[in-house]
Amino acid sequence: MDVQRKLEILADAAKYDASCASSGTEQRDSRDGKGLGSTAPGMGICHSYAPDGRCISLLKVLLTNACNYDCLYCVNRASSNVQRARFTIDEVVTLTIDFYRRNYIEGLFLSSGIIRSPDYTMEQVVRVARHLREDHHFRGYIHLKTIPEADDALIAEAGRYADRLSINIEVPTEASLAQLAPEKDVRAIRRTMGRLRLKLDEANEAARDTTRKTAPRFAPAGQSTQMIIGADTSSDRTILQTSANLYGSYNLKRVYYSAFSPIPDASRGLPLQPPPLLREHRLYQADWLMRFYGFDIGELTDPLEAGMLPLDIDPKLAWALRHRERFPIDVNRASRENLLRVPGFGTRTVDSILAVRRVTRLRLADLRRLHVSRSKVLPFVILADHRPAVSQLDSTHLLQKFRPPPAQLGFAF
Ligand code: SF4
Repeated sequence: MDVQRKLEILADAAKYDASCASSGTEQRDSRDGKGLGSTAPGMGICHSYAPDGRCISLLKVLLTNACNYDCLYCVNRASSNVQRARFTIDEVVTLTIDFYRRNYIEGLFLSSGIIRSPDYTMEQVVRVARHLREDHHFRGYIHLKTIPEADDALIAEAGRYADRLSINIEVPTEASLAQLAPEKDVRAIRRTMGRLRLKLDEANEAARDTTRKTAPRFAPAGQSTQMIIGADTSSDRTILQTSANLYGSYNLKRVYYSAFSPIPDASRGLPLQPPPLLREHRLYQADWLMRFYGFDIGELTDPLEAGMLPLDIDPKLAWALRHRERFPIDVNRASRENLLRVPGFGTRTVDSILAVRRVTRLRLADLRRLHVSRSKVLPFVILADHRPAVSQLDSTHLLQKFRPPPAQLGFAF
């Protein structure tokens, strides 16, 4: 099989993994005339599209789509009737360098089906990164998937070469994992996440130690994970509880939510329909609200809605509408914590408000200068020249005002 065909198969096989954003690493470049490539801050690597048109991926290939395991949600599972391929180490290295030189990509996201053993697979993945870094002095972004239960020395080596390491938690609950991926062990996954965290903590501590000349390098962009949503019956509350636990226990940079896409030759144990894509978006919003806005899971999901986030409006607005007694909030006097609860105010807006009000009282006109959506904010805030009518905040029509307008369904021809 030629390399072009392998690339078609192994790039296609990797597209279901959403956990490959390239943010958060150290900055490197090759302006000193040595090495190749650079990492621009926050830069994505490359994009591809899932069959449903969703942009889910940055640069990524699998080393092989052969796999010993039979995870029901995975197109590469052992019982799947897909064509198999395997790159050699040199093929992935050459492709990465060639694509980089042609400006197609900014780095490499490499994952693999599990062949022979976790150690063997991890060793193959690490060899690619080692060749790129040591033989080609490649300074672009490298994200490696970590194989659960791989040997500690291999994980240490992976962290030496990679910017980010990730290990997929796969589904929100242990029971779902047992049902959908019986060969996977949630304890092994969590143990490996714990080992990554220890190494990350050690590297960070060493970097802070001013008595040391050099600190050991370990995945400067940290670790992340991915959770498939909609392949089981877990509610959004359960999903967010699992995320909160993962962030707290393993200091993850990101939990990626990937709406389950029906795969070719799917198992009967899976739903026939994918979840609405908006559900994935709402989970990202709620995840952000938990981490940066001080919201608890219980505040974001409505028990009356079976622990699900609303799809028609964003979770912060939904919370505000359920807690109208907390509004209006006086923008010129409220604490940062309370300002963060106002629908339409982001963290940067709140910081700007706090800075501006040291010198003047904020008025309606200032909202435009802060690029705030006035229609979203005005029912919830008091400004020097604005006070919403009580009837406006209490109105049963307020929710209607924020809902997207109804759209006529398209014709099927
Ligand atoms: S181990 Fe990974 S590649 Fe193999 S079947 Fe499971 S999800 Fe797919």
